Amino acid sequence: SDQTYDVVVVGSGGAGFSAAIEAAEAGKSVAIIEKMPTVGGNTLISGGEMNAPGNWVQKNLGIEGDSVESYYEDTMKGGDNVGDPKMVRIMAEKALTSAEWLRDEIQVEFLEDQLFQFGGHSYKRALIPVRHTGQEIISKMKKKAETLKIPIILNTQATELIQDKDGKVIGVKAIHNEKDQVTFNAQKAVILTTGGFGSNIEMRKKYNSEYDERYKSTDTEGTTGDGIVMGEKVGAALTNMENIQTYPVANPETGVISLLADTRFDGAILINQEGQRFVEELDRRDVISQAILNQTGGYAYQLWNDTIDAISKTKEAHEDEYNELIEQKLLVKAETIEKAAAFFDIDVDNLKATIKKVNEYAKSGDDQDFHHRGGLVSLEKGPYYIEKAVPSVHHTMGGLVINEKTEVLDKNNQAIPGLYAAGELTGVIQGANRLGGNAITDIITFGRIAGQSAGNL
Ligand code: ADP
Repeated sequence: SDQTYDVVVVGSGGAGFSAAIEAAEAGKSVAIIEKMPTVGGNTLISGGEMNAPGNWVQKNLGIEGDSVESYYEDTMKGGDNVGDPKMVRIMAEKALTSAEWLRDEIQVEFLEDQLFQFGGHSYKRALIPVRHTGQEIISKMKKKAETLKIPIILNTQATELIQDKDGKVIGVKAIHNEKDQVTFNAQKAVILTTGGFGSNIEMRKKYNSEYDERYKSTDTEGTTGDGIVMGEKVGAALTNMENIQTYPVANPETGVISLLADTRFDGAILINQEGQRFVEELDRRDVISQAILNQTGGYAYQLWNDTIDAISKTKEAHEDEYNELIEQKLLVKAETIEKAAAFFDIDVDNLKATIKKVNEYAKSGDDQDFHHRGGLVSLEKGPYYIEKAVPSVHHTMGGLVINEKTEVLDKNNQAIPGLYAAGELTGVIQGANRLGGNAITDIITFGRIAGQSAGNL
């Protein structure tokens, strides 16, 4: 069967919803197709934090000095200067407007008194949605899409872009409920927002043999690179495909990201089986992941106490994960260091020496071992928490080449008419390594631009 819209958006994560909402507000008829039975993709299961320099929570907390320039520089440097400077600049300049749009137009609620400083950032600049997950963003976007009467067609996997004789993209073929062929005609544009390819082991291996079966993934099952493959088939250029990011602190059994372990941004330390620190806990994800893999057994333990939990409040925000980890014996809470260390058979004398140093560095404000950029927090008082963790494939930096209008470019840098893309499936923003809190800023900013570009056609 056939359906016709002005704009067809493929994928219902944060990028897809942003694009669809903007295009609909510009007066276009829009549909979102989503291959899974539910909306949201990785945006939904992420922590949902969003970097925005100069934001209102920084003002609430009296954090001064942050700027677009500082955010731009952190992002470029964090990605080894591989990102496209003009695209990174757009993201940095529009970050705050994107956050305000989420707050004011989409009604996303952010915490008013807490921010994260993810690895590689010079300031606490990541806004945190209430309940600390992307659920807040996706549920509010879905509501907005419903208000705008945008059909969200679930269980519908796009399989192929349709082109006219001049190469213009005029629609997409899809399979509904794994059996019925459906054609979606797009009178103005197709916008690809299908996310990355972290869950596609074959595709990971094709572009970087390191990330084979040995790695689990934090990603949803639908994260299989479909949009990248469909784009490539109509001549789109791909870039940075080898750059695959692991999240350093994930569940060793399932690969699921540990949001409980966001205590790391407020002073939790990483130790090895020998009870020693081995990396700056606020270093880049790739650096920490590699450091963890170099330790005995290729895993790490994250340690914190109630002083730190009182700052980060992750136990309250991620209670289900907390209980699950306890049950899986991947997390222990104990009154004393001795007891906590014994649970995992960690060298207790080393660990006590490590903690003694951390307490000194917390007091002096100078971490002489690893130069913790956020400042360490005293671990003098129990109870203590120790969580076992491994790196897990989390984000694929590479993908389609887009320009400032989010037009998809071919190998001669020419826009493929009718085809737009935004979100994780694009490859020009995050460079060799994406910094924490940058995905939401990227997908909202460029998702909106894609919707606005299509809205102008
Ligand atoms: P982003 O962060 O870029 O918005 P997400 O991972 O949050 O990416 O969302 C991507 C969405 O696209 C997911 O919900 C995923 O299931 C969906 N998707 C992936 N491939 C297809 C496809 N071929 N057809 C329809 N939807 C798809």
